[in-house]
Amino acid sequence: MARRLREALAGSLAGLISILCVCICLALGVRALVSWATEEALIRYAERSALGWAEYLQTEMPDLDELLQGRAPDAQQRVVMYFASAIGDARRFQLYDVAGRLSLSTDADGISMSSGTPALSADRPQDWKRALMGEASVRIQRLMEAPAEEGAVNVSGDPPPVYADVVLPLRDVDGRFKGAAQVTLDMSHTWQAIGSILLRAGAALAGLSALAFLAPALGWQVFRRRAKEAERAMHERAHLDDTTGLANRRGFIDAAAAALAAAPEGADDIVVLVFDVDRFKAFNEQNGRSEGDALLRSVAAALRAVLRAGDPGARIGADEFAAILRTPPEERVETIVARVRERLYSPIWSPAAQMPTLSLGACPLKLADGDVEAALALAEIALYEAKAAQDGGLRVFEPAMAARVERRRHVELAIRDGMKEKRFSLSYQPLVDRRSGATVGFEALMRLNDAEGAPISPAEFIPVAEEIGVIVELGDWAIRTAAAAAVHWPAPLHVSVNLSVRQFDDERLAETVEQVLAEAGLPPARFELEVTESLLIANPDHVERQLAALKKLGVSIAMDDFGTGYSSLAYLWRFGFDRLKLDRSFVQAMSVDPGRARDVIAAIVALGHRLGMSVTAEGIETEAEAEALTELGCDILQGYRYGAPLSDWQLREVLAWGKDADDERMVLPPPDRAAG
Ligand code: C2E
Ligand code: CA
Ligand code: CA
Repeated sequence: MARRLREALAGSLAGLISILCVCICLALGVRALVSWATEEALIRYAERSALGWAEYLQTEMPDLDELLQGRAPDAQQRVVMYFASAIGDARRFQLYDVAGRLSLSTDADGISMSSGTPALSADRPQDWKRALMGEASVRIQRLMEAPAEEGAVNVSGDPPPVYADVVLPLRDVDGRFKGAAQVTLDMSHTWQAIGSILLRAGAALAGLSALAFLAPALGWQVFRRRAKEAERAMHERAHLDDTTGLANRRGFIDAAAAALAAAPEGADDIVVLVFDVDRFKAFNEQNGRSEGDALLRSVAAALRAVLRAGDPGARIGADEFAAILRTPPEERVETIVARVRERLYSPIWSPAAQMPTLSLGACPLKLADGDVEAALALAEIALYEAKAAQDGGLRVFEPAMAARVERRRHVELAIRDGMKEKRFSLSYQPLVDRRSGATVGFEALMRLNDAEGAPISPAEFIPVAEEIGVIVELGDWAIRTAAAAAVHWPAPLHVSVNLSVRQFDDERLAETVEQVLAEAGLPPARFELEVTESLLIANPDHVERQLAALKKLGVSIAMDDFGTGYSSLAYLWRFGFDRLKLDRSFVQAMSVDPGRARDVIAAIVALGHRLGMSVTAEGIETEAEAEALTELGCDILQGYRYGAPLSDWQLREVLAWGKDADDERMVLPPPDRAAG
């Protein structure tokens, strides 16, 4: 602000000085012009006037020749001379003979005859020579500037300040040179008159030219100021976000770089923070743009309140904000960012929504070698991790994150290419009945290899598929493929398909399942869907309706991974699942803390049974685990101990083997883990 003011002042000062300089030059120029023109006019005027006098003398005094030869003037001549010097502006006449010797001099004091000196030819040889050639010479002299030679002008009272000294040739009627006259004319009045006329004209001219110059100069000044303002406005607009008034990404990078340059300690204690509003897009869609903008403005205000004076804050994306934080070296970056998060939360206000939540990512500037733009990109990676974790949390960038981002890109590419190139497949893992030891069905598990043939775990690619919005398509494919495969299995073997939360966003889920089963000719009783608890938390009413519709079809619904997330008795009660799948972590826990694990498992099994559900234990790898879980009352057992997931063709072979054995129960060959 102050800098801008200084710049503006300096700009107008420079303008003023240049205008002043031009005015001074103009004034000096006009002055020089006026004095030169005055001089010229005086010379012309004096010449004309002197010529007039010479003519007057010659006509009024026909016997001038005699005077030139040194005769004293007669009475009539004296009168003529007297009048000449008394009435006109001529103050002195001097007559010189053919040789340039002074013959007669007349002024206010009277007429004096001369003895021949001073001689014009000797005193003023230049003027004399011109007279000989028939030309007049004029000298303008100012008394105040250069006192004339003594007695040059001897008029009564003060000598005229300006006089012209004119030397004229005198000729007889035949045009022969007969001498010269020197007339001294008082030019004071003329000088004053011409001077004042010229001065006025000059002043007018100067005024006009000043106007002619000033108008464009002022115009130029105004134009330049406007142009500068426009440029500044454009610069600001290019660096500002209209909605919040904060800087935009470009503005942030510039401001942050400037802040860094001004920081005496360098990048050491500077952290770049990036955060965004969780589910802002959905909020915007539900509440309209103006509510969305209001929320953004409220976040911006909260950010402003948190920032230290002079530290840059910005809106760098639709719902993404950035800021510079200073961290005292003794404090952990996480601590500071967490504190900022708390302070951001308190003032955010939105009339349309419950409290929006934020996800935050940060990166110490020194991790990016002081490059603000690079630090911003790394902080965004951290933000991305915070978002993916869905714990409303914050992450500080660490180098491993970059590798994870790279890996995620790889997975995303594998999914997109895999869908185009039909590289997805399903593997089937047996589910075994505890009591009979017979296989009762298979869980369909999705498989994907990347372009190099390396398998990618569904635990890794399913969340990415959800994120990039292809899970519904993939899930549909899984339902169709599993149903189509299961028809070929001997009844009553069923197939269990995993469902993603996102698939419940699709209103036609039940319809699709119904249609798929009908097309495949698979009885609904041989089809099961596995859902996780996270599904129920997101949108219970909506999901409840969908689950009810699915159950109405006659398919069975299993709750997967029970006991890991927000296990709630209320959910189990409300949704009436057919089966409960105990999470693998409980089975694993048995080898760590057998007593406690057994107690918990027993409680869950009892609960499941009480609510009319059968209980599946998954991830059983050893005989000991199998025995323990059987003992604890689990109904269905699953895990490598009973069989790794098999590809479609492997499974067909196995099933053919089972048939050949003509065994009532479907007992599978020893597990082949490599198949998983
Ligand atoms: P999940 O539904 O809990 O599936 C069981 C996972 O445990 C499978 O991993 C399976 O291969 C693995 N497993 C089975 N027995 C054992 C064992 O004895 N020991 C160990 N360590 N692991 C065992 P997988 O195939 O990698 O799938 C991981 C997760 O990906 C699944 O967990 C499921 O949540 C998801 N998923 C797989 N296929 C699909 C699908 O088609 N749709 C959806 N939405 N999710 C799927
Ligand atoms: Ca499952
Ligand atoms: Ca599971």
